[in-house]
Amino acid sequence: MTGEEAAEQRARELRVLLQKASIAYYVYDAPIMEDSVYDRLYRELQELERAYPHLITSDSPTQRVGEKPASQFPTVLHRIPLYSLENAFNLEELRQWQERLLRVLGRSPDPAPHDLEDHRAGRTESVQGELDYVCELKIDGSALALTYVDGVLQRGATRGDGRSGEDITQNVRTIRSIPLRLAIPDPPPLVEVRGEAYLSIAEFERINAERRSAGDPPFANPRNCAAGTLRQLDSRIVAARKLSFFAYTLHWPEGWGGGDPPQTQWDCLQQLKTFGFKTNPLSRLCRGLEEVGQFYEQWRAARRELPYASDGVVVKLNQLQLQEEAGFTQKFPRWAIALKYPAEEVPTRIRAIVASVGRTGAVTPVAELEPVVLAGTTVSRASLHNADRLQELDVHIGDTAIIRKAGEIIPEVVSILKELRPADAIPYTLPRHCPECGTPLVRPEGEAVTRCPNPNCPAKLRGQLQHWASREALDIEGLGEKLVAQLVDKLGVVTVADLYRLTPEQLQGLERMGSRSSQKLVQAIQSSRRQPWERVLYGLGIPHVGVVTAKTLASHFPSPDQLAQASPEAIAQIYGLGAEIGEAVAAWFADPEHRQLLEALKELGIPATPTQEVVAVNRVLAGQKFVITGTLPTLSRAQAKAWIESRGGKVTASVSRQTNYVVVGSEAGSKLEQAQRLGIPLLTEAELLALDPNT
Ligand code: NAD
Repeated sequence: MTGEEAAEQRARELRVLLQKASIAYYVYDAPIMEDSVYDRLYRELQELERAYPHLITSDSPTQRVGEKPASQFPTVLHRIPLYSLENAFNLEELRQWQERLLRVLGRSPDPAPHDLEDHRAGRTESVQGELDYVCELKIDGSALALTYVDGVLQRGATRGDGRSGEDITQNVRTIRSIPLRLAIPDPPPLVEVRGEAYLSIAEFERINAERRSAGDPPFANPRNCAAGTLRQLDSRIVAARKLSFFAYTLHWPEGWGGGDPPQTQWDCLQQLKTFGFKTNPLSRLCRGLEEVGQFYEQWRAARRELPYASDGVVVKLNQLQLQEEAGFTQKFPRWAIALKYPAEEVPTRIRAIVASVGRTGAVTPVAELEPVVLAGTTVSRASLHNADRLQELDVHIGDTAIIRKAGEIIPEVVSILKELRPADAIPYTLPRHCPECGTPLVRPEGEAVTRCPNPNCPAKLRGQLQHWASREALDIEGLGEKLVAQLVDKLGVVTVADLYRLTPEQLQGLERMGSRSSQKLVQAIQSSRRQPWERVLYGLGIPHVGVVTAKTLASHFPSPDQLAQASPEAIAQIYGLGAEIGEAVAAWFADPEHRQLLEALKELGIPATPTQEVVAVNRVLAGQKFVITGTLPTLSRAQAKAWIESRGGKVTASVSRQTNYVVVGSEAGSKLEQAQRLGIPLLTEAELLALDPNT
């Protein structure tokens, strides 16, 4: 297939998929993909159409605004069309948009020096090139077009396909923040107002909870919920769902002498307020793109604290005269743009899949991706987790996958867009042999993880060394992935203890290691010997022992020898741990190689000191389960719990036959009754404290 043929096929597939998504979104208010995924695929189609203009078809989603809903409401023609907005996904794209705008307006992007001087001297309001913009939060709701005749609301309509929408006046009348009559004494004969009908997140959640309990499918997001609500046939349902409305566009009646016609978008917003509309108080008049950027950054971080959903910032040229000069494309105004917040889910192509072996020998399939920006960073790899997940997703190399990044977690593949699978896509399954050492891989029954069983697999060694050096373990600066690989391959480092025998001379033979960096690394390694036991314990990489567990274990067993002697049961009883950790720790210490490693570390003086904060006082209450109820005379609930736990006891929330004692304070409730029913011994605070004769 030639490049052009491939592009043609991809464009065809994209059109079909986007059309399907668009109908699901606009007509049924039930999207089949995240907006960010839609946006990205849409961009791809746009780029293909730009490269090969003959691929543009009149029904391409790039050529239309919305979809015509399958509606029971009468269709109405908009007197003034409602446009969509062009998207920018970052500040660089916003800058490019401004450059295009300046060109259309016949202005130079760079202010002439004398203009700047005038501006600084306060002689002009705005420098050439520095345009004023109104920034408004892009509310994720549904656009409404309102018509007022002689000040009275005559019609409320949806945007529809931009030329015609649905007449939903009855429903619009139920929205409290839409005035039925304009709040001015001499209203114009005809006025058009546009804005966004939306639901607060709290209301959206309430509606969804109601739908779930009625067995109806919940709405995917507040936008779909608002759009679906506006198109309810029963206005009583609409009235019960608390829709709100922010007005943002005023079409001032031409030639109306009842007031000074607004000159700017900012004036329009003020005028809308005097007409009795609610406008978003967070809108801001910004001079130049720098201020726009600040507004965007501010809300990008803070948008989750808003009571409604916002998916970006709408940037509008402030001067109406300039808006008129800039005009419209077929689909968008040239004078406004939606600057969207970074996406958390995007589609991209899987170039290859590799099996990566981690420090525990777990083999993880990792997709190598066409780099894509996700949540503000460029991503080129994503986890496919394990063999089951591979099968469930039915992943092929060449597929378009949707990847997600939530918070700080590494990106993962959430689904595959099978509609976009190319004919030459290759199915993928995990290899049978370790890609690092060739050992046959094993998958213990009932486990999801496939592992390399070879204890000396170089990938495992590398993983262990890296984990040892990581920030939360021994924190050895400068010991990164590439260097670790060289230590294993070229210097024969096998265990973490070997690190401490490295000399600067040995390191100097490695790639990109000069004499200074070698000295520095040896110093960093040597000073890591002073790290406390809890970090060493975490660095050992015992299964199930993360940072927090390592701290807890180290506080109960302040040295490696004490932990080595602990029974799995004793560990399991510690509050916050459990049988799985007890067994994992005991199994790790039972391995002669691990004991040898601890000996080697001990000889090197690691750990240097036992853990300082010994939380455990003694173990007089080991194995005893307590429940606390009511208010105790001197101890708070948390203090009583800490007192019990520091002596090896456990505190649980509810009384059962396994409970040994119930500690009772004043105003004890149902737990006391339950204890009496089961015949569990009761203790006062004084009796509790007496259980430890040393108190
Ligand atoms: P849009 O939603 O990107 O932007 C235009 C809309 O923004 C307006 O109609 C209005 O409703 C809204 N808006 C909110 N605040 C505004 C303000 N202050 N000023 C002006 N407008 C404001 O454009 P669109 O044409 O409605 O739809 C395209 C978008 O819809 C895509 O970017 C995509 O995210 C989404 N979409 C998603 C799917 C899907 O499958 N998930 C399908 C189709 C479309």
